[in-house]
Amino acid sequence: MAIDLLKAPLQTLESPFLKERAVGLSMLRLDRIHPLIPGNKWFKLKEQIRASQRRGKQQLLTFGGAFSNHLLATAAAAKASGLASLGFVRGFHGREPLSATLSDCTDLGMELRFLSRADYSRKHDPSFILQLQQEFPGALIIPEGGNNAAGRKGAGDIAALIPGDLDLVVLPVGTGTTFCGIRNALDAGIRMLGFAGFKNGAHLEQEIEKNLVYPRSGWELITEFHFGGFARHRPELIRFMNDFYHQFSVPLDFVYTAKMMYGLFRMIADNRISPGSRICAVHTGGLQGNRSLPSLLF
Ligand SMILES: *Cc1c(COP(=O)(O)O)cnc(C)c1O
Repeated sequence: MAIDLLKAPLQTLESPFLKERAVGLSMLRLDRIHPLIPGNKWFKLKEQIRASQRRGKQQLLTFGGAFSNHLLATAAAAKASGLASLGFVRGFHGREPLSATLSDCTDLGMELRFLSRADYSRKHDPSFILQLQQEFPGALIIPEGGNNAAGRKGAGDIAALIPGDLDLVVLPVGTGTTFCGIRNALDAGIRMLGFAGFKNGAHLEQEIEKNLVYPRSGWELITEFHFGGFARHRPELIRFMNDFYHQFSVPLDFVYTAKMMYGLFRMIADNRISPGSRICAVHTGGLQGNRSLPSLLF
């Protein structure tokens, strides 16, 4: 499961707006490290793969939606590591045509099982997990989004790619696995903002606190830039993505990184970020999900 970290450069973003606000902004381009296992997903999976090898497992079993970056990354990581993979897909009855993401998963050898929303909601239920483990004894069961200690440990290695002379690191948050991994490994003097691209971020805040070494300090979750909910979007967001691409030559995904950068720019404009701040934004990838958008200029 080799990746090329040299392809994860720290790109300086410059614009008249940022100059006027005296904000120094760079972006860690993790979207470029691997075509199928980009962004935070490679980091979250690498320790899971190591655990599967240590425990003599031959298969990775995990959960995701029809456009899930995690599901596709797991399929690709399993294939690259000589493991089989099994994906449980949410709210899909197997009658609809496969999404581009799911069809890529099957091309990579992943077997798919479709669960009703009610069954899928049991994904963290210990009795359901036990039942799955009995049915698939050779499988390493990875929670949705790679959200476990191995996921956080792997994600912590992203901190080493972030320069030390910063005031603030920003990144998008889904399950919070990546956020916790980086927060626990990063210099405590650097603040972090997590951008939740969905409603009800408050619950996530508690989930994050549970997994932090210093739960109460040095970070904040920003929940207002959700654009109607998870994987929802509005013309304004798509316009922002296109403008961003034309200005900085950086493609963003509409589920995570576009909402983060929109929110960050809004906060800079509203003086919620101090002038003079040196910021690093983590590009967590996810670009394959843009295939579900009907129109995008880049
Ligand atoms: C999966 C994903 C996230 C969320 O990561 P978590 O560790 O679950 O918080 C953020 N950005 C992108 C592009 C992703 O694919």
